[in-house]
Amino acid sequence: MEPEPTALVGGMSADDIMPSAAQVQAAAAGRGTHPQEPHTGGTVGRLNWLRAAVLGANDGIVSVAGIVIGVAGATSARGLIFTAGLAGLVAGAVSMALGEYVSVSSQRDSERAQMTQEKRELADTPEAELTELTALYEAKGLSAATARTVATELTARGALAAHLDAELHIDPNDIPSPVQAATASALSFTSGALLPLLAILLPPAALRVPVTFATVLIALGLAGALSARLGGSNIRRAVLRLVIGGALGLAFTYGIGHLFGTAIG
Ligand SMILES: [Zn+2]
Repeated sequence: MEPEPTALVGGMSADDIMPSAAQVQAAAAGRGTHPQEPHTGGTVGRLNWLRAAVLGANDGIVSVAGIVIGVAGATSARGLIFTAGLAGLVAGAVSMALGEYVSVSSQRDSERAQMTQEKRELADTPEAELTELTALYEAKGLSAATARTVATELTARGALAAHLDAELHIDPNDIPSPVQAATASALSFTSGALLPLLAILLPPAALRVPVTFATVLIALGLAGALSARLGGSNIRRAVLRLVIGGALGLAFTYGIGHLFGTAIG
C-alpha cells in the first residue's frame, strides 16, 4: 500500500523534495548537498582542526608573553628573560601535548570499547538490537512502521554501522590519533610562543616591553579575527575580547613581576 503523502513544506509535493542522485552521493561522502552550503562535511573537519591550531597558538602567545613580560618587569638581564621564556615555551608545549595525548587516547579507548560491546550485542541478541534501532528512529519522530522499515533496511546493509551511527554517534573512519593530536597541539603552542619570545629578545632594552605588548596584542587580534571567521561568529567582538583580555593579562603580569622583582630581588 502506498503511504498517504503527508503535507509538506510550502505546498511542495513529495517529488519536489526527492534529492537528486548527485545530492545523495554528496551526502554519503560528507560533502555539501546544495551549492550555497557554507559548512560542508569535508571542510568542517578541516575548520575544527584549524580552530584548534589557532587556540593552541593563542595559548602559546599569552602564556609565554606573560612570562617574559613578568620577568622583564623584574630584571633587564636579557639572558634571564630569554631563559624564562624558553622554559615557558618548552613546559607549555609538553603540557599541551601530554594533555591532548591523554584526552584523545581515552576518547579512542572508550570508542573502541563501545564498538566491541556493540559487536558482541549484535552477535548475541540481534532481535533486541533491531528493536533498539527501531526505537531510536521512532524517538527521532518517525512513525513506528517507518522506523521499523528504516531500521530493517539499515541493519541489512550493515548492522554495526547503523548502530554506531544512530546509537553511539561514532564514525569508525574518524577515530582520532593521540600522537597526531599531541603533535599538532605542541606545534601550534610553540608557533604562538615564539612570537613574544622574539619580540622581547630582538629590540633594544628600552623598547622590549612596549614592542612585546604591541606584537602580542596585534597577534591576539589576528587570532581572534581568524577564529571568529572560522566559527562564523562576530569578528569585532572576538577581537575586542582577546585584545582587552590580553592587555589586562600582560599589564597584570608586568605589575606582579615589577612588584616582586624589586621587593624580593
Ligand atoms: Zn545497539
